[in-house]
Amino acid sequence: MFERFAMTSTLCRTTALVAGLICLGFTNVLAQNILDLPPTLPWSGHSERLIVKPDDKWITPAEAADFKTTPRYAEVKTWLERLAAASPLLTIHSFGRTGEGRDLLYVRASKGGATKPVVLVQAGIHSGEIDGKDAGLMLLRDIALRGKDHLLDRVDLVFVPIYNIDGHEQLSAWNYPHLRGPAEKGRDSNARNINLNRDYSKADAPETRAMIGLLRELDPLLYVDCHVSEGFDMQYDVTFTYAGWGTYARHRATADWLQGRFGPTVAQALTKAGHTPTIYPSPIDTREPTKGIRYSPEGPRYSTGYGDFISVPTVLVENHMLKPYRQRVLGTYVLLEAALKIAATDADRIAAAKATDRASRPSDLLTRWAPTPQPIGWVERFKGVAFDTYLSPASGRLEQRWLGRPITFRMPIIGQQPTESVRLPKAWWVPAAQAEVLDRLRLHGIAFETIETPQTLQLDQVRLVEPKLLQPNEGRVPMTATFVHAVGEQLLPAGSVRVPADQPNGLLAAALLEPESQDSFLAWGFFPEMLAPAPSTDAFVLAALGERLLATDPALKATFEAKLRAEPAFAADPNARLAWFYERAGPGHPYWLQYPIARELN
Ligand SMILES: [Zn+2]
Repeated sequence: MFERFAMTSTLCRTTALVAGLICLGFTNVLAQNILDLPPTLPWSGHSERLIVKPDDKWITPAEAADFKTTPRYAEVKTWLERLAAASPLLTIHSFGRTGEGRDLLYVRASKGGATKPVVLVQAGIHSGEIDGKDAGLMLLRDIALRGKDHLLDRVDLVFVPIYNIDGHEQLSAWNYPHLRGPAEKGRDSNARNINLNRDYSKADAPETRAMIGLLRELDPLLYVDCHVSEGFDMQYDVTFTYAGWGTYARHRATADWLQGRFGPTVAQALTKAGHTPTIYPSPIDTREPTKGIRYSPEGPRYSTGYGDFISVPTVLVENHMLKPYRQRVLGTYVLLEAALKIAATDADRIAAAKATDRASRPSDLLTRWAPTPQPIGWVERFKGVAFDTYLSPASGRLEQRWLGRPITFRMPIIGQQPTESVRLPKAWWVPAAQAEVLDRLRLHGIAFETIETPQTLQLDQVRLVEPKLLQPNEGRVPMTATFVHAVGEQLLPAGSVRVPADQPNGLLAAALLEPESQDSFLAWGFFPEMLAPAPSTDAFVLAALGERLLATDPALKATFEAKLRAEPAFAADPNARLAWFYERAGPGHPYWLQYPIARELN
């Protein structure tokens, strides 16, 4: 979807007159609606009472604009500074800088006194999905000035109004055209086109690094990440989920709290306020909703997956794209208020769940899974919206046309079955030179020790077979390979780093360091040196070397001759033949297809 719109903007940058006219035409349409979206479902609810009167001194920018537009970063900052100046409960802090140098801001709402546990809410990680920002501004006003300060009796609220600020400031009506408002929205990714909600584990973006720092500093009771959905039309307006909904979470106690306590309480509050919540239905096939929704494990590249790995209860809010912005913002307000209340009520329970998870020592990491052949359950009366199809002259195939008519149907839930998992070793050994890896281990708070004298150990060493570089993605060139493990003696020089699995972040360390993990540094392409060609030397030296080996090593001679017969391309390639001898004459190429991180087995 986003590639498609990247093409559109290329078109708009074309200097040709015709393209200029097209762009102008688009601009005229923008004042109304960028695209014809399907019919709106009628809605009203108690939460509408949260909107203040037009002449209210503390009206938020979105309320003042009747939720047609959303304020820019500078306006948000100014508004929050004014609010904080009027209330002793609010303070504004910077927790880092974006790639373009903007201050990453959070507001802390606190009654002071003894340090209270924190509920951390972030808006705009995908900056066009900005409902959380405008809801948070309203909620902060009502906490600070309108009698809702009791929400802070047992918890502090830390609110990040815009996480992906650089993307947020690239406002365009062409960003997120599937969302019914606001009129112009920010981009999904940051200024280097890195999607921050794929970056938690590899931590390449300055925004990610700042957020991980904030998470470690606050260690929140609850982490809420506000988004808006894509997918199919449906009646639900506010949906939310957690990593591994169902049985797929990596850490059970925090997951059980989310499913058993958070979900039901928040859903009840939303229903009472006139909204239609459900667990986020991640579609198997948006073109055919009845194929079902997916429950699956999640990797630590995502906020929710990362939260699961570090045992911080984390909620993904996915408001429904086709609901008007006003309705979505109000729903988010209700959800955030309910989240603060349940976190306050359950502060001790959550703390206990986190401690249980952090004391657990999972022995295995699930690395691959596949859909179950049969549904693992059903939503008996899924609240969908009817559609028909028509032959689109644009696509040349049948496309969906959502009709704005509520229907219910039986929705299958597709689960996952494990297809590969790895047994955690006792520790991983990282060479001192792997600075990028060590930097990220430090950032994530993964404990390690550095040896001061060399050691020789029997270690599980991993070689790559048939590595393949994939399409560049998220600022990296990811790779896949088959991995062959073999135990061998290895000299570990002074400065080598030992990362023990026996630590609260052991499972996160496994996700980053086990080569088979889909979120490992290896999978993200952190070790291009493994694929660099072996060094060579002059042909006259190599030819003499090969001739000597042929004369003195009969077994090697036989292997060579067999290879010549079997591989005509090799036989016809003088340089490949010489390289073959060089590889066999000395210690070989220590980097070639050799994963630099070794595993100390139990
Ligand atoms: Zn999103």
